[in-house]
Amino acid sequence: MAEDDLISLIAESTNRAASDVLIGIGDDAAVIDVPPGKSLVTCTDTLVAGVHFPDGAPAHSIGFKSLAVNLSDMAAMAAKPRWAQLSLTLPTMDEPWVRDFLAGFMVLADRYNVILVGGDTCAGPLSITVQAMGLADRDKLLTRGTAKAGDLLAVSGELGDAALALMLLRGGQSVHSQLLQRLHEPEPRLRVGSALAGIASSCIDISDGLALDLERLLRSSGCGARVDLEKLPASKHLEKLPDAQRWELQMTGGDDYELCFSVPPKRLPLLENMIRTTAVPVSIIGEVTASAGINCYDENGTVIQLRSSGYQHFENTDAS
Ligand code: ADP
Ligand code: MG
Repeated sequence: MAEDDLISLIAESTNRAASDVLIGIGDDAAVIDVPPGKSLVTCTDTLVAGVHFPDGAPAHSIGFKSLAVNLSDMAAMAAKPRWAQLSLTLPTMDEPWVRDFLAGFMVLADRYNVILVGGDTCAGPLSITVQAMGLADRDKLLTRGTAKAGDLLAVSGELGDAALALMLLRGGQSVHSQLLQRLHEPEPRLRVGSALAGIASSCIDISDGLALDLERLLRSSGCGARVDLEKLPASKHLEKLPDAQRWELQMTGGDDYELCFSVPPKRLPLLENMIRTTAVPVSIIGEVTASAGINCYDENGTVIQLRSSGYQHFENTDAS
């Protein structure tokens, strides 16, 4: 199969009727209609074999995840994704692999009505770059740099499952299917993101571990935070682990794709109402503070210094 045949295969498998796509796959560039009054929100993310997914990960999962990580960024901005581009670098022209990959990609694309409008194809070490584009109301965007001291700090879903799955896989142990799904096919929190518009004061998606991503949000906002480790939401798989190991996975493990956000205390009733109306759980895990740095506490109020090297972020806090 030559490059043109591969592009035809992609076009056939992904073709969906869309009145806002004037020109999709097949010309030199795509042409899309952006509705008046909306802001165009765009992001891109690359997945490299052996770095972002284990060698030998199922093609279906790689397809799913390559879009999921981008939709997670859209969720963190309270944007509604609508179009995507896909750049594929493949070591060999493996048609069954490509079909499986596209099936995974399209499961998620169809779930959120995302249209594939173009991309690029070349030969080389396996790497996938997806660009997502979406729409948002300019006055309803969620951003990183807008948390204020005194805001409540919250996260969606549960933390640490993907890191636990990866740890078990690397150790050659069996992994529960729910954990594997959290690692390979994470659900982007799009409904939560859009429900948080008008409630959250700032938001970031957790792709590199809560500690690192929360620090990014706080640095942009010029604040710090107190995190109550006991309040970090854990699945039944994580709950079985000793505290120190669980907290380590939840704070520094990557690939959660949950949202971390701040909420002004006066909007707590709005948040509680939102939790009731969306199926996804939200946990309040601490508070934004005026002084920089992240301080973690156990249930007795004792400062906990986590061991992982990922915790260099805590070096300048009173915990060090
Ligand atoms: P050009 O050589 O003019 O840059 P290409 O041959 O790379 O064009 O692409 C032809 C068409 O196929 C374009 O519409 C492009 O967006 C689309 N395309 C190429 N590769 C992909 C891909 N992996 N996924 C989706 N569309 C693709
Ligand atoms: Mg061209």
